[in-house]
Amino acid sequence: MKIIIYPTFENEFKNLKTQNRTYLLYGRIYDNFTVCHLTGVSFSKSTYPIGLLTTGTTTMEEPIITAKSLEYPYIHIMVEENLSTLKADVYHNEENKDSNIDVDIEYIDLNRLFVRIDEKEAPLRVLNKKRVAIIGMGSGGALLALYLAKSGVKEFIFIDDDHLETHNIIRHICDLDNLGRFKTLAVKDYIKARIPDVKIQTVERKFDLHTKADFDFFNSILLDMDLIAAVSGEHDVNYAINDFIHSNQLNIPVIYAGTFDGVKGGLMFKVDPRNEDFCYHCIYSKPDENGTIQTKAIPTTIELEQKISYDRTLQEQLAQPGLGLDVDNLTILLSKFCLDILLTGGEHSLYHFPHNFYMWFNRTIMKSNESSVKFEGLELYYYEDLEKDSNCPFHGTQALKIE
Ligand SMILES: [Zn+2]
Repeated sequence: MKIIIYPTFENEFKNLKTQNRTYLLYGRIYDNFTVCHLTGVSFSKSTYPIGLLTTGTTTMEEPIITAKSLEYPYIHIMVEENLSTLKADVYHNEENKDSNIDVDIEYIDLNRLFVRIDEKEAPLRVLNKKRVAIIGMGSGGALLALYLAKSGVKEFIFIDDDHLETHNIIRHICDLDNLGRFKTLAVKDYIKARIPDVKIQTVERKFDLHTKADFDFFNSILLDMDLIAAVSGEHDVNYAINDFIHSNQLNIPVIYAGTFDGVKGGLMFKVDPRNEDFCYHCIYSKPDENGTIQTKAIPTTIELEQKISYDRTLQEQLAQPGLGLDVDNLTILLSKFCLDILLTGGEHSLYHFPHNFYMWFNRTIMKSNESSVKFEGLELYYYEDLEKDSNCPFHGTQALKIE
C-alpha cells in the first residue's frame, strides 16, 4: 500500500500530543486500498473520516474510538514515533481484516511541481512574477487560466458574474460538482487543487463602468497587472475594458479573444498602449441605432459577411458536437500569445507572435469576393498593418487630446 502524505496532514500531525491516543483520520482511499491519501487528523471541513490514527507505543486490540463512527471499509494506521514508521490494518467488513500491511510513504513535494519546465528558453522565474487578469471565465477563459498557471504564472484576478450551468459542463474544465457556483470560484478551486501556491483573487461581478465607484474599484485591482485577457466574448465588456485602459492612460497590454459563426473560427488581437497600437474601437465600431456593429478592419468572408463579430448563441452551443474542441483549439493559441507578451523584453525562445491580429479557422471557409479562394481549416492567419479607425474616439480625427 502506498500512503501519500499531504502538507495539511503533516502540519496537523506535528501539533498532536502523540501519547497513546486515537484520532479520526481524513483523506481518500483509492483502488481497493492500493493508495491512500492522508489529508488531516480529527477535523476536516469537507470529507468523512476514512479511518483511525493511533499514536504512541501502546498496542491495543481495538482502538478507543470505535468503528461505529466509521463505515466499512476503513483503515487503521498506527504511528509509534514519527511518520517514517507506521503500520496499517485494513477493515474490509466485520469479518474480514488485513493486519500489518506494508506501507510505502510518499510526501507531496510542491517544489517538484515545476521542476521540468524551468528552462532558459521559458524562464519560469520571469513568469512567476507576472500578474494576469482574466475577464470572462467561460470555457475559453477557464482553460486559459489553467494553461497560464501550469506555465508558471503565479498571480491572477478572475472577473465574471456568471454561474456554471449544466450546458456549460461539456466544454468547461469544471465538473458537475460545481453546478450553480460562480465560475470564478469553481475555476479557482480547480487550479489550486493542482498548484496550491497560486494566488487568485476573484471578482463576482460584470466588468462595467457605470459609476465612478465601478471605475475606482477596477482601477484599484487592475493597476499593477502585466496583462489583461478579455475573453468574455461580449462587445459591451470589451468596450468597457478598452475605454478603461485608454481614458485612464494605463500602460497595460490587453488581449481580446473570441469566436465567431458557431466557432467556425476565432480571433485574437493585442492592444498594447505602450506601442501605440490600434484599439478595440478601431476594430469594432460602437453599435449604431439598430445595434449593428461594423468592422472595417477585418477582412470578411462570404459566409461571415455581417457575422464577423462574436457569436455564441445558446442554440449553437447546444447543437454542435465538437464545439468544445474548437474553443480549446483557439485557447491553446491564445495561451501561447499571452505567454509571448508576458515574456516580451527578456530573452526567451518559447513562442513568438510578431503581429497584433490573428484569426484561426476551425473549418474551411470561402473568402469574400473570391469564391475560388478559401481559408483552410486548422490554420492561423495574421493581418499586418490594421489601421486605426478615423472614427475611433481615441485614435480618430475627432479624438480628444488627453493632456
Ligand atoms: Zn482606437
